[in-house]
Amino acid sequence: MISRRLLLSLPAVALFATPLAARAAEPLPIVASFSILGDLVSQIAGPTAAVKVLVGPDGDAHVYQPSPADAKAVAGAKLIFLNGLGFEGWMNRLLKSSGTKGKAITVTQGVTPRAAGKDGHGHGAIDPHAWQDVGNVRAMVNNIAAALADADPAQAEGYNARAAAYRAELDRLDAEIKAQMGALTPAQRRVITSHDAFGYYGRAYDVSFHAPQGMNTDSEASAKDVARLISQIRKEKIKAVFVENISDPRLTQQLATEAGAVIGGALYSDALSPASGPATTYLTMMRHNTKMLVAGMAQN
Ligand code: ZN
Repeated sequence: MISRRLLLSLPAVALFATPLAARAAEPLPIVASFSILGDLVSQIAGPTAAVKVLVGPDGDAHVYQPSPADAKAVAGAKLIFLNGLGFEGWMNRLLKSSGTKGKAITVTQGVTPRAAGKDGHGHGAIDPHAWQDVGNVRAMVNNIAAALADADPAQAEGYNARAAAYRAELDRLDAEIKAQMGALTPAQRRVITSHDAFGYYGRAYDVSFHAPQGMNTDSEASAKDVARLISQIRKEKIKAVFVENISDPRLTQQLATEAGAVIGGALYSDALSPASGPATTYLTMMRHNTKMLVAGMAQN
């Protein structure tokens, strides 16, 4: 893209010589609700797209409070991408209060939602963490590409081509995860995490996850839940105990200490890592999590 400053510094004759199509290709103003979705949208929208992410790396979208700057970004956006399935409880109010004329796109449209298990505390009967199953992300990418092409038909070919290339990446990732899981026996495939965010992953890749904290991080784990998990870790000798990047590590540390287990490191459940971390994109996040999980479960 030619920046505004560069454009202004060009002689008038060069400016008028610029083909109309090139000048018309201003990037679409786009908002994505959280970092993982921001990466998916950026992959399909292309390198020149201006994607503003509301809940950034290591951020918790369950309990987020939008800022005035967020309202301004939403007001100016042509497309606002959100996960849906009850993940961004603050989004409807933000859309309304911003007065945006942009279109809100729920990317999980058409994904088969997973019901929250009996451990799903309080509100939230649906598990929102659909992106933890690579198969769901295929559908999400299709929805993203369709929304972009609809809003910006002139660039539809590029959006569709990038979506096709990304789906091929997703297929490779999915096969890789399944191959790595294949090294474990069914009995080894048990994991403790602090926040119940890996239900879709568990369903797709045949891993049984247990968590003291429910689907929504705004609900506290009860003492009873924690005691139940400690006895389960002891009884089943589960060594694979993890904490998510968005969670308070103290609860998991307490669990691990009392049950005689060791924490296997951070999993990225609801947000990417900052630039210096190991999970700066969806693809690297899934590879990182799988590596940690397989190493942890190998000790079970
Ligand atoms: Zn979550």
